[in-house]
Amino acid sequence: MPTVITHAAIPICLGLGLGSRIIPPKLLLAGIALSMLPDADVLAFRFGVKYADQFGHRGFTHSLLFAFLLPTFALLFYRWFKAKWLTIWSFLTVSLLSHSLLDSITTGGLGVGWLWPWSDERFFAPFQVIRVAPFQLSKYLTPQGFAVIQSELYWVWMPGIICMVGLWLLRRCFFQKRAFPSS
Ligand SMILES: [Zn+2]
Repeated sequence: MPTVITHAAIPICLGLGLGSRIIPPKLLLAGIALSMLPDADVLAFRFGVKYADQFGHRGFTHSLLFAFLLPTFALLFYRWFKAKWLTIWSFLTVSLLSHSLLDSITTGGLGVGWLWPWSDERFFAPFQVIRVAPFQLSKYLTPQGFAVIQSELYWVWMPGIICMVGLWLLRRCFFQKRAFPSS
């Protein structure tokens, strides 16, 4: 996995880039929470569940079914988000799905269980560029830990911030044209 904070980069950059009119604060917070949620499966280690088990790390919480179903259930709280239902569903699905996509381009661990419950197979993307993050926090203070942080800044945060600024500029041009249609 990339570090759990780096998973939040996708909803943060996308949400801030699109702006609070499209992605209100509550929806942004829910997207951030969902982008990190799949790694709650590491708690299963405490109960003796093995990494490769379908309920182990990168198992069912990283599946496509989970990524599409959870945002659908979130629509029950439609009014709370103060956004259009399609926006809510799309933003939460992208946030959740981005988690397993990022995991699939890390250089270590097992792949992600995208096809649970139909298959136990673990998948990787065709290329791996993000250095896999250690489970223990203490390892971040080692050269290996710094290399992980550097790799996440380069492959996730930097492209994310570029997209965010691009979206912000697009939004600015679009709203300026709507405010001054004749100019
Ligand atoms: Zn993960």
